[in-house]
Amino acid sequence: MGTFYLTTAIDYSNGDPHLGHALEKVGADAIARYRRLRGDDVRFLMGMDEHSQSVIQAAARAKVTPREWVDRMAQTFADYWRRLECSNDDWIRTTEPRHVRGVVALLERIQQQRPDDLYVADYEGLYCTGCEEFKQPAQIANGHCIEHPTLELVRTKERNHFFRLSAYGQQLLERIRTGALRVEPEIRRNEVVRLLEDGLQDVSISRQRLPWGIPFPGDGEQTVYVWFDALINYLSATGFPEAGYERVWPADLHVIGKGITRFHCVIWPAMLLAARLELPREVWAHGYVQWEGTKMSKTAGTAVSLGTAIERHGADALRYFLLREVGFENDGNFTWERFDARYIADLADTFGNLVSRSLSMTVSYRDGVVPSSGPDGGDFERAAQKTLAAYGRAMDANDLQQGVALVIELATRANRYVEETAPWKLAKGKRDAELDAALANLIRTVARLVVLAAPFIPSKSEEAWNALGADRTLARVRLGDLANLNVTGWKVAKPPPLFPKPGTD
Ligand SMILES: [Zn+2]
Repeated sequence: MGTFYLTTAIDYSNGDPHLGHALEKVGADAIARYRRLRGDDVRFLMGMDEHSQSVIQAAARAKVTPREWVDRMAQTFADYWRRLECSNDDWIRTTEPRHVRGVVALLERIQQQRPDDLYVADYEGLYCTGCEEFKQPAQIANGHCIEHPTLELVRTKERNHFFRLSAYGQQLLERIRTGALRVEPEIRRNEVVRLLEDGLQDVSISRQRLPWGIPFPGDGEQTVYVWFDALINYLSATGFPEAGYERVWPADLHVIGKGITRFHCVIWPAMLLAARLELPREVWAHGYVQWEGTKMSKTAGTAVSLGTAIERHGADALRYFLLREVGFENDGNFTWERFDARYIADLADTFGNLVSRSLSMTVSYRDGVVPSSGPDGGDFERAAQKTLAAYGRAMDANDLQQGVALVIELATRANRYVEETAPWKLAKGKRDAELDAALANLIRTVARLVVLAAPFIPSKSEEAWNALGADRTLARVRLGDLANLNVTGWKVAKPPPLFPKPGTD
């Protein structure tokens, strides 16, 4: 089995990260963790897009050099992603030498393979500094970029290098229709197909005399256009063009936001076709986090501080809420009321309560040693088996919202099992065999739930797993172990409260 290589979009270094960035990163992280759980050899890349024009402006405002500014921003972003428990094993910055090498090598490769695909021409258009691209009439409303209604479009005229994107429409349609390049979810695929059917125009891929950027190979007057530069990060992080990059490339999954599908599902694969390189296998475009019905973004001025959101109930709770309530497919709303409600109902009263009572009863009635179960777990065991299968299907399809909903659903079922079997009555009545079976069934499914929840709430799962006294670490458990998980003899301890309610300890 080869490497499962997944990436997130790289972010502009022009302001602190917000909840919109966080949704993408924790969603991709949940996929990476799930893939490791399946046993895949995962390579997970995140990083920073540092050549944008807005860097020059932001650095000037802060009275520092662009270099000092991007160093500071990269540190800020990396710190947030660490707080949110992102498990990326690489972090690329587009100002790094390895990336500059990759960009130059890709351009030279296109020049060799398809020399007619690169040419020089004059260009005039309306440029959005928020998107860092020239906008077409359909992307402009009331004289402003649709994505950035508060920014002024800049009329720009210059002589640029162009990429013959128009030559690739049919090939891309073919790849998407056959599934060789999967664009998900379906609503995004349909948008991309419509875009391709309308026909493509060539794109400018350089800027004149921009001091902050990668020099265009063979032209001292021009720098590589920031988007053309940025997309190549996915390839340069594999070590391209050095030998061995093919062990990682092509990417199995690019996770991006729905606003940049044109770059990732049209321009990027066309660049790769021109260079005769393999295309990514899948692009997943998630929706936006909305705050009172509007997109969360810096320029729209509606951002809620990410730090405040993390501090409210902890990093795991925020990860859970973003993926369970906002979701990873369509737009979803973030409100403090819903965050608090989900925290209490799902995490404290359902998941946390189940773990706590199951372990406590095992400690009280069996000195913490998990007894061996009877031959048949009945309905409860069948519900658990059904969840295991459904969870795998949902997560394989990147349906994170469904995957995590299944975890809470089974935890609810397990709490009901506690009520049905009433172990405290069995203990009082000295019905030992029934008590053994009830506790064994319960702990087995609690252990399964802790594993299934780990991609979403990694540190709380780790705490719960450690209290289970299992025969191996959580990192060594695989999804395939769960159906016949044997918990007999595990030595459980009373766990710390996983999700304390506000105002209590
Ligand atoms: Zn824009």
